[in-house]
Amino acid sequence: MADLKIHRVETLGEATFDSPLKDSIVRFYNGEAIACNDRTKELGKLESISDIEYFELAGPREKLFFNPAEVTVGIVTCGGLCPGLNDVIRALTFCCEESYGVKRVLGFKYGYEGLVAKYYHYPIELTTDNTDEIHEKGGTILKSSRGRQDDDEIINTLVHYGVDILFTIGGDGTQRGSRDIVARLRERNLPISVVGIPKTIDNDISLIQRSFGFETAVEATWDIITNAHNEARAYKNGVGLVKLMGRESGWIAASAALANSAVNFCLVPEVGFDLHRPNGFLEVLEKRLKRKEHAVVVVAEGAGQHLFSDHTTDTDKSGNKRLKDIGLLLKDEINNHFSSRNQEVNVKYFDPSYNIRSRRANANDSMYCLQLGNNAVHAAMAGCTNMIVGMHHGRLVHLPIDMIGDRKSIEPRGWFWQTVLQATHQPTNMMN
Ligand code: ATP
Ligand code: MG
Repeated sequence: MADLKIHRVETLGEATFDSPLKDSIVRFYNGEAIACNDRTKELGKLESISDIEYFELAGPREKLFFNPAEVTVGIVTCGGLCPGLNDVIRALTFCCEESYGVKRVLGFKYGYEGLVAKYYHYPIELTTDNTDEIHEKGGTILKSSRGRQDDDEIINTLVHYGVDILFTIGGDGTQRGSRDIVARLRERNLPISVVGIPKTIDNDISLIQRSFGFETAVEATWDIITNAHNEARAYKNGVGLVKLMGRESGWIAASAALANSAVNFCLVPEVGFDLHRPNGFLEVLEKRLKRKEHAVVVVAEGAGQHLFSDHTTDTDKSGNKRLKDIGLLLKDEINNHFSSRNQEVNVKYFDPSYNIRSRRANANDSMYCLQLGNNAVHAAMAGCTNMIVGMHHGRLVHLPIDMIGDRKSIEPRGWFWQTVLQATHQPTNMMN
């Protein structure tokens, strides 16, 4: 039989220490893999069955690279807030301390800044006592930041504190940062493991079926959409306009529209739309108001960026493109459109982003965060590095960081978008 194409993650060396979990778990995982369904697409399109790729299953390993009692762990959170950050910090701390009995866990503050000496953000020692209740709060007790930092300075701090394992909780930028740190560690021949727990409230990391915090975010939109609906129904030609997260992928907006189907228009980055042209958004909205006298519009923050005449690309500290405010643009355009026709319209604009990002995780996300945290620890203890943990088709797997590639986006001709169109009854195409 041909060799299976298993995407094994990088390891620091031979695992020689016995896991202390021997008597407390059901079984160990020692390299089992599952088929990667996303990349193989439909079986019929494969050249041969041997083209199927596999990912390593996450789980406790029988043999460890590190001797747990001598291990110092570092944790850092970077990028924007997302429900569940504290849950992940707590899970990492509990698993390190209770399951493996590590020497100490250090929380580095303000993202990668906390790993650079010149900022004087001293790390805090994390224990099961001081992290016991943090999952009850939103935000991150470790605080966060954006902005590039020097890899050598980061590594010097890791060496200074004797860190053997670094857990990086953050989005695409953070994981690219982790990859750079690993590359430099390799050059400096330092056996430090770096394992990422990917964070994106937008749920747009390729190959990862669901990212933590996404479900909480969708749940939080339910009340907001109901309120927008109430506002819209209370006035003549009322429009409840809700801007939701989704820089490059509209999963939150689309899922929100399905969860609370009071939504009549769902606008996402993946599906373009015109404003003023025949059959464009404003004309269709006008028809809807004639018929029902109210409408609810949900727009993802990255939608309709082509509608802005000013194409200057302003960026934030981390180099991310700053988006133009599509919510405000739509509000103005709707008002102008109806006033130019001497028609009454009442637009109520909701922009709840920070209200959602800063929440604590719901029960299902908390459960997922716990599993991500535990399995990140299992992987790192076994010496795995340059990887992330995540859910792939119902199982937690190890993914080499380099495999995080394209964004996971809504397929405009796919079944999911089809269900959104059926729920909203908006036209398939509002672009000429
Ligand atoms: P979010 O989803 O909130 O954007 P993120 O992790 O992508 O999360 P960023 O602010 O882009 O947030 O990045 C977080 C950290 O990672 C920052 O310190 C940033 O400098 C670093 N970083 C971003 N991009 C890169 C890169 N290409 N290489 C190395 N480090 C990076
Ligand atoms: Mg990012």
